[in-house]
Amino acid sequence: MALSFDKKKHPRVVIAGRPNVGKSTLFNRLTGRKDAIVDAQAGVTRDSRVFEAKMGDFPYELVDTAGIELGEEGIASRLNVLAEEAVASSDVILFMVDGKDGVTSADEELSARIRAFNKPIIPVVNKSDVKVSADTVYEVYGLGFEYAVSISSAHGQGIDELYMHLQPLLEAALAEMDTSDDEDERYVLPMCIIGRPNAGKSTLVNKLLNSNRMLTGPEAGLTRESIGSLWEVDGHLVELVDTPGVRKKGKVTEDLEQMSVTGAMSAMAKSEAVILMIDATQAFEKQDAILASHAVEKGKPLIIGLNKWDLVEDKNQAIADIKHRLEHSFSQVKGVPFITMSALKGKGIENILPTVLDLHQKWQMRISTAQLNRFIEGMVETNPPPMRKNRRMKIKYMSQIDSEPPTFALFCNMPEELPSSYVRYIQNGLREAFDLYGIALHVKPMGSRNPYAKKK
Ligand code: GDP
Ligand code: GDP
Repeated sequence: MALSFDKKKHPRVVIAGRPNVGKSTLFNRLTGRKDAIVDAQAGVTRDSRVFEAKMGDFPYELVDTAGIELGEEGIASRLNVLAEEAVASSDVILFMVDGKDGVTSADEELSARIRAFNKPIIPVVNKSDVKVSADTVYEVYGLGFEYAVSISSAHGQGIDELYMHLQPLLEAALAEMDTSDDEDERYVLPMCIIGRPNAGKSTLVNKLLNSNRMLTGPEAGLTRESIGSLWEVDGHLVELVDTPGVRKKGKVTEDLEQMSVTGAMSAMAKSEAVILMIDATQAFEKQDAILASHAVEKGKPLIIGLNKWDLVEDKNQAIADIKHRLEHSFSQVKGVPFITMSALKGKGIENILPTVLDLHQKWQMRISTAQLNRFIEGMVETNPPPMRKNRRMKIKYMSQIDSEPPTFALFCNMPEELPSSYVRYIQNGLREAFDLYGIALHVKPMGSRNPYAKKK
């Protein structure tokens, strides 16, 4: 099934809710599709699609999730996976409950699951024509929401109020979006080079500037105010973020060591990839490790440039050494990719930009829930979570809730009891299974039950 949830022209809305609450009916009302089939039978499989809708003259997109509702069961089925992808690709979630039925335990479970996506949620109580659904509205408060909009999808009541809540959220999403339709405008990946004094940063910068086909901005369609040095690699654009103290070194009066850290921090904040330059003839020192873990903690993809390779005599030994050091330093830095090079002679530097692009892509990657569940099953089988409070901890499933850096929700029965060592075990496993070295990974244990829900 070819699903394209990624290409987004307008802010996107998804209607989530268990089967038969009236999602399709609302979908049809909002998109004005009178011909669409409303299926009273639950679980009908249809391809999910994205449709354009308008609120006044404000365009937005609505995902048709008919037949791919998030199921009640823990382990994700194929339909669940599609539904999660639909939710993940959206900017606003309309969480619909049936005012006739009231809030059920399935609704509770579902509200916890969609909350994990950290997106704005508008709770909607449907079928208000059948029953005064004030009780249901209160039950929705019990799920931890501060309001709920009562509507009748079938009769069109309450839609104005729904729009009132929806509009500011869509406007905010639009402001966040890259709205340029300009075909020429391409994404520019900002990268910086950091490292201790004398590692060879300036030498590398100069070499990169001279030996690559550099674009002298502003190119057609490149509208960012200040474009530094810009390269085109495999059709992608990479920009070098200026690191204070690198190029204008002559004028520096401050302590260089200090400068390299503070300068590195501000350059890293503006970058989406970080090259840490290390002098291969020197030991990998604490300050290198600190810079490296800062980069990873800030969620930036990191590559180590092992410089002055021309001066290294026993190259095999040097590689074994750096591998050993990277294996035994901070856990975030474990397995970080490195490139051997001689900035001075211009050797090996051609590998930098392709490696950066590869890592950046992984940083933005979305791993499907199906893959994650296969992964988590294996992890639990090899090393089950411990007992707590005389109960076996259970990992139910896992899904990716964000990227840049990749962030995962790990659903389990006692999330607050899951030891951090077990979370690290999962993180390390993820790195290995999906080749995510050099990238921060967040794994958040969560309960599928809503912590705000009233005890019944
Ligand atoms: P979905 O499975 O969530 O997409 O639900 P549907 O849109 O297919 O609706 C399920 C059933 O509820 C259908 O029989 C609809 O006619 C009915 N329904 C939907 N909205 C309303 C409403 O506002 N009022 C009433 N009374 N029935 C509704
Ligand atoms: P920065 O302080 O990190 O910007 O380091 P520089 O680029 O100023 O380099 C410090 C010194 O190392 C200079 O004398 C460079 O010529 C030298 N250097 C830089 N890269 C290499 C290299 O790949 N091989 C060798 N042999 N020397 C290098």
